[in-house]
Amino acid sequence: MSRLSVVLPAYNEELMVEKACRTLREVLTGAGISYELVLVDDGSRDCTWEKINMAGQEDERIVGVRFSRNFGKEAAIYAGLAQAEGDAVAVMDCDLQHPPETLVEMYRLWEQGYEVIEGVKADRGKENMLYRKSAGLFYRIMSAATKVDMKNASDFKMMDRKVVKSILSMPERNMFFRAVSSWVGYRSAQVQFQVQERQAGKSKWNSWTLIRYAFTNIVSFTTMPLQFVTFGGGVCFLLSMALALYSLVQYVNDRAVEGYTTIIIVLLFIGSAVMVSLGIIGYYIAKIYEEVKRRPRYLISGIVRGGGEVPGEGAAEKNRDPGI
Ligand code: UDP
Ligand code: MG
Repeated sequence: MSRLSVVLPAYNEELMVEKACRTLREVLTGAGISYELVLVDDGSRDCTWEKINMAGQEDERIVGVRFSRNFGKEAAIYAGLAQAEGDAVAVMDCDLQHPPETLVEMYRLWEQGYEVIEGVKADRGKENMLYRKSAGLFYRIMSAATKVDMKNASDFKMMDRKVVKSILSMPERNMFFRAVSSWVGYRSAQVQFQVQERQAGKSKWNSWTLIRYAFTNIVSFTTMPLQFVTFGGGVCFLLSMALALYSLVQYVNDRAVEGYTTIIIVLLFIGSAVMVSLGIIGYYIAKIYEEVKRRPRYLISGIVRGGGEVPGEGAAEKNRDPGI
């Protein structure tokens, strides 16, 4: 009989672990689906690991992975995928904002032969204006980069074993799961879901982490900003030609311009354009530097599996050649 793995990244979710496990057990056993839960503690500072450990000792279907520190949600998802052993693997938030009932709907589609089932937000839930606008801009850029409509995309997905294998075989460190799962292709379907209210605890994001997250993901998926630099350079060149022509005409006509203001403005403009461009290029270089270091995506300090604790694997990522 086929089995479903549900990967749940958890960062400071002590209030949600038990509740998520309980709800998923009810929903999945109710639907007659055999399953395992893979909870990844992303270096929480509260009692999340104790809760996961306890749940894992009590129930053999619960696997817990503990990171040595906070490596971020993408790393947690990746670690969960590496540990999952099911024939279908789902990823969902552990705050139950992704409704567990939708999992059943996704599983049925998987049984029908779909290989990637994407959860699509029916609407974006409660968000303020600025957040909505900046999220909109981010998703427009990402959609252009991936050629997939990402507007209402989420990390709530179910994938076939072979899709998981493809994702695990990708060597890059900066991975944007949401986009990569579309990028891989395969036979895909979409399921709409209503974003629920967070049941307990609070959101782990603030404006700054979101901006950083947006930049990292754009850079990990597209080199478009570098083309903006070239484009900006081209525009500046055309403008400078026009200005040069104007100045020459003035000079020939013996009406040399009183150019102080113009010079200052042009100088400042060019200076800032050059610096912004260097910044963008520098950001890519920083990312290349991170990638070539070939550091592991995460470090595991402990695993609970099959009702007992197994020691952490240190740097080794399961299913992967640590050398690459
Ligand atoms: N999360 C994580 N590592 C982080 C931040 C978040 O594993 O560094 C997890 C978190 O525990 C939750 C999911 O990612 O299960 C989504 O986070 P959150 O609910 O804070 O995001 P929001 O729903 O507000 O976008
Ligand atoms: Mg949430």
